[in-house]
Amino acid sequence: MSKYMLNIYNGVYSVLLGMTITLRQLFRPNVTHQYPYEREFEVNDNIREIPVGYRGQLHNRVEDCIVCKKCAISCPVDCIYIDSRKPEKGKAWETMNVIHLKDQTRIVGILDKKPPKEITDDIQLTVQHINPEGTTYPDIPAGATVKIGGEKVDRIVDRKKVALFMDRFDIDMSLCLFCGLCTEACPTECLTMKDGLEGIEYSEFDRDDLIYKFADQSLYK
Ligand code: SF4
Ligand code: SF4
Repeated sequence: MSKYMLNIYNGVYSVLLGMTITLRQLFRPNVTHQYPYEREFEVNDNIREIPVGYRGQLHNRVEDCIVCKKCAISCPVDCIYIDSRKPEKGKAWETMNVIHLKDQTRIVGILDKKPPKEITDDIQLTVQHINPEGTTYPDIPAGATVKIGGEKVDRIVDRKKVALFMDRFDIDMSLCLFCGLCTEACPTECLTMKDGLEGIEYSEFDRDDLIYKFADQSLYK
């Protein structure tokens, strides 16, 4: 009989204890987030420092890509899709420079002299084209020579004479294993894995949105 009463006591006690904890939490601020509906919370409070070399989301700096397909061949799950074609006669460009400005403008042109490692002085170039649209240099026609203040320049890369135009460069991140083999195989090191916060946060509701499309036809204008 005493064991029976003890069981009843334990049952009632554990229910009351559980309800007390529940009631207490009811009046405290939420610690959970309705992710991915809520994305604006302070990620730094919730995520530890991301180590250098972390293998996150893939990114292709396409202006440096030579469409060699080594990345696609080395991918164990075949999630990189590349289509390319030979440029028509006379349409291939000579070696050019791509000037990345700090305001995200990208100017493709030919510099009048080899760029220094540290860009402090003004640079002068003959413009081939500028993108994206709506930049700070919308009115400069192709063929114009412009001077740009060194303080505005983020980096300058060489774009070698191309053998192939890139029609399609898609990566299906929903299949990717994050093994990094494609980045190891890339001869121009244009294919990288982001190791910052933006490299880990890219959930989507629609699987198709995880197919990243990098081909940029404006490069071939
Ligand atoms: S990191 Fe992803 S895309 Fe690159 S080789 Fe591995 S599985 Fe393929
Ligand atoms: S290996 Fe690099 S250069 Fe070659 S196609 Fe892939 S991303 Fe482009």
